[in-house]
Amino acid sequence: MSDIIRLLPDSVANQIAAGEVVQRPASAVKELLENTIDAGATDIKLIIKESGKSLIQVTDNGCGMSERDARMCFERHATSKIQKADDLLAIRTLGFRGEALASIASIAQVELKTKRHEDEIGTSILIEGTEFKEQSPVSCQNGTTVSVKNLFFNVPARRNFLKSNTLELKYIIEEFFRVALVNPDISFTFYNQDKILFQLPSANLKQRIINLYGSFYSQRLIPVEQQTDLVNISGFIGKPEFAKKTRGEQYFFANGRFIKSAYLHNAVDRAFKELIPDDSIPSYFLFMEVDPQTIDVNIHPTKTEINFQDIKSIYAILHAAVKQSIGKFSLSPSLDFDVEQSMNFPPVPENHPIRQPVITVNPDYNPFEKKVQPQTSFTFPPKPSPSIQGWRDLYTTQPPDPLAELIEFPVITNVNSGDTSNGFTGGTPVNRKPGVQVKNSFVVTDTISGIIIIDQQHAHERILYERFLAAGRSESKPGQHQLIPQTITLNPDDAQLFHEWDTHFRNLGFEINDFGKGSFVVHAIPMNIESGDIRLFVESVLESLKSSGQEPKTDHQQVLAKTMAKKLSIKRGKKIHQEEIDALIENLFSCKVPGVSPDGKPTMYVISYDELHTKFKI
Ligand code: ADP
Ligand code: MG
Repeated sequence: MSDIIRLLPDSVANQIAAGEVVQRPASAVKELLENTIDAGATDIKLIIKESGKSLIQVTDNGCGMSERDARMCFERHATSKIQKADDLLAIRTLGFRGEALASIASIAQVELKTKRHEDEIGTSILIEGTEFKEQSPVSCQNGTTVSVKNLFFNVPARRNFLKSNTLELKYIIEEFFRVALVNPDISFTFYNQDKILFQLPSANLKQRIINLYGSFYSQRLIPVEQQTDLVNISGFIGKPEFAKKTRGEQYFFANGRFIKSAYLHNAVDRAFKELIPDDSIPSYFLFMEVDPQTIDVNIHPTKTEINFQDIKSIYAILHAAVKQSIGKFSLSPSLDFDVEQSMNFPPVPENHPIRQPVITVNPDYNPFEKKVQPQTSFTFPPKPSPSIQGWRDLYTTQPPDPLAELIEFPVITNVNSGDTSNGFTGGTPVNRKPGVQVKNSFVVTDTISGIIIIDQQHAHERILYERFLAAGRSESKPGQHQLIPQTITLNPDDAQLFHEWDTHFRNLGFEINDFGKGSFVVHAIPMNIESGDIRLFVESVLESLKSSGQEPKTDHQQVLAKTMAKKLSIKRGKKIHQEEIDALIENLFSCKVPGVSPDGKPTMYVISYDELHTKFKI
């Protein structure tokens, strides 16, 4: 028998490659847009018709191509971006495989017009299913225009697999967003059926996000910034309260390339844990810059998956960076902390010493306890966390420094009788307007920049939750010993469960010892609990743990802290007294994450004065 192995003709090989590279109009859009970025364009126009099925046209003002290159670019493995195998280890361009244009030209009718800045005249090429039809000189602008007509005209099976125009358009918009987000300095215009869909001027990242998603996003974003030897991370995350149930606003870019990574997604997602409901997904637009030598971008034909050399460390850095930003900026920009826009501090005179305001508070005070606990005073650490600092700026009671008077502090009136039982000790009176309870459920107060409406139940859950967590971490366990220990009886199931959780109960200040046969003696309970019916309380906590504590990978201490916070919180519908109202406000704003309950529900709603001005047309 004669030999049977043959090389495939180029047209067939290209069509096979196209199967990987160009699955749908959106993939062609991606490749063409990426080529414009690699060509150094600063202004890009995308035109599509019938969701790219009949026309995709991309025009750029990039470097253009010579007459020969214009022909060469349609050859398989023809690229200007790498020359030798080593170059693969240090890729700084988006393309490098040299197969996009060859693939596209094998399954569509393509017209290319291109001119380099240094050339007088440009080149026009017509190619159809890999077959060159025409090449001629043409007078055109500097840069390149690629028009892709009738995609899959010669592969009907592929054409039939395409989805509805609506869905294909959605995919194209997705690709467009990816390129537009990572290149905010480039201006883009996107026409669909002769109508402008997006017009994006050159901008910074925040402005680009706003131009893509709408102006209300300016209130939703928190900056992330972290520079390390391994990776530089920058970008924005959405505030927890705006997390959505649907995917779509999760963007990672590595060295200017959109990438997908379930692993890194988990790093961000975990940073939002406890802040958003379990079924919500945080938004993020995060950019990672790494040494190109430490990544492999050549593991997938569409180049959206890449291998990082040290992905575990990147995971840890990303997780920490996001967590830090949430702590630092959560909520704040909706008030006065959008430094870019509204913080207008007078310059500090040279040599002027700057001191932190100091407030003394009692961290163990529970505003809803009937008995007043003996109070130990506590001073905020000299370097408060940024979130505390931020809120303190709004709530500080005494300007620490004459300079501070230049900064607008809340109007200070109505000293609240010097009563220290609201949690403030050390002779610092609470010189802030008292809050007001409405409908026995909400607490209203004001700040320099707006009115805050607090949900008393969610807010108190947050306060207790952070206290329980802090107690769990502290060395000395803050239990109150019972003069007369109570005995409680648990059924065998609950007794077993209690044993499993015993350490975590102890961490929070419980001391409950097994007396045998289902009897337990309660020697100590946490500070924040009244020694009423401990049995009912323990039983109901155990009941909740049965459902919430059994999922794999749960942090048991967190689950217990959350469960107890929910059980013990002041409920909506309960009237609270003035000092309790004020303590609730103060304690909430001393929390690390004041804006959300441990379940991720909002604790407060802020109406800025700007909004009021707009509403009242002032
Ligand atoms: P790759 O981008 O992987 O190199 P492509 O098939 O996408 O492969 O493009 C082949 C070559 O054609 C590129 O390397 C580049 O030199 C040239 N090219 C493609 N598009 C443009 C463009 N818009 N402007 C200038 N040169 C381009
Ligand atoms: Mg390319």
